[in-house]
Amino acid sequence: MSKELIRLANCTMAFDGEVVLNNIELSINDKEFLTLLGPSGCGKTTTLRIIGGFQRPTSGDVFFDGARINDIPPHRRNVNTVFQKYALFTHLDVFENVAFGLRMQKPAIGKAELVSRVLEMLEIVSLRGFERRETASLSGGQQQRVAIARALVLRPKVLLLDEPLGALDLRLRKDMQNELKRIQQAMDITFVYVTHDQEEALAMSDSVVVMDGGEILQIGTPEDIYNEPENAFVADFIGESNIVDGVMTADGSVEIFGRRFACLDGGFAPNEPVDVVIRPEDIDIVALGDGMLTGTVTNVTFKGVHYDIIVDFKGFKWLIQTTDLSPVGARIGIKIDPDGIHIMKKSRYSGLFGDYSSYSAEYDEISDAAAVPAGTAQEADS
Ligand code: ATP
Repeated sequence: MSKELIRLANCTMAFDGEVVLNNIELSINDKEFLTLLGPSGCGKTTTLRIIGGFQRPTSGDVFFDGARINDIPPHRRNVNTVFQKYALFTHLDVFENVAFGLRMQKPAIGKAELVSRVLEMLEIVSLRGFERRETASLSGGQQQRVAIARALVLRPKVLLLDEPLGALDLRLRKDMQNELKRIQQAMDITFVYVTHDQEEALAMSDSVVVMDGGEILQIGTPEDIYNEPENAFVADFIGESNIVDGVMTADGSVEIFGRRFACLDGGFAPNEPVDVVIRPEDIDIVALGDGMLTGTVTNVTFKGVHYDIIVDFKGFKWLIQTTDLSPVGARIGIKIDPDGIHIMKKSRYSGLFGDYSSYSAEYDEISDAAAVPAGTAQEADS
């Protein structure tokens, strides 16, 4: 088990009296790849800036390796940062960009060591042979690698990355996600990564911290966050999810739309109202008579690997991902295994997410005349 390297204890940040980080508790382990994930304005960058020392929390403490560092300036923290706008020195070539920080070091390091450390870093970011290239002649991905090498050559214990792939196109971003994970493992240091892209967070991280409105809603492995979301916000933000009202009738039994479903969750009060998450890929389409619920298909979108189909159950629209085509207007039955049903406590996010009516409406607008006329779906029964 890796040991704790950074801790934010009761950190609050307010600008002109407006609280943008509310009592954050966060522990980051040595050699961990941890991602701060959330929508724009939720406080990710502010959290990163507090760790980097660019912002001092209004209240609360920051610890590094057990020592309080609230008053330690950024350049004296064992931390370096890569920003989305990586601002390479355009008058210097690749080698000199990476060497820059080393040349500034006091006491100065010897020439042989400097060359060897720069070349080692260029090797790690797969840019050996690019030493004498002008930075302006590099692609976006290559420039980003130079920025990473420049930050890592100083051998920080922690690298902070603020949406570093935001400016790259989708294909390059995916390549760089793999590269970043590989670089983090090769360097064997801690990465704290900020993004609003949930796929990116799931693909790279050991731990994901989901934030909203200046608060941490959940911390866990990508699998935990996806499979056991804490509330409707997390369930909706991470992947697609149908979120419906339910009542826990007993441990392992939840009632949805008047029907009982077996589930694996327990520990709720008798007849406690809950939010029920069902992922689109966990729903099986079965013959009408065999279904736990029956509904009407209102939209079908071909996605390559699968179809996204929208199904109306008593006016509530679910997203189902399936490789079997069910045409618009078809009445279908569905089955859900107990491990495909996840129960969450009611929260301030209840009722806000997880109904695909609007998704359906978007497709209604662009779909052809084959769409089911409005009103037909209302007749679907259970
Ligand atoms: P994004 O993904 O858009 O960068 P974020 O989650 O990183 O968002 P922050 O940059 O941490 O969010 O900002 C959180 C809130 O704090 C925002 O409402 C922002 O306007 C506000 N904020 C950040 N820095 C300052 C500042 N220096 N002065 C005033 N308000 C600020």
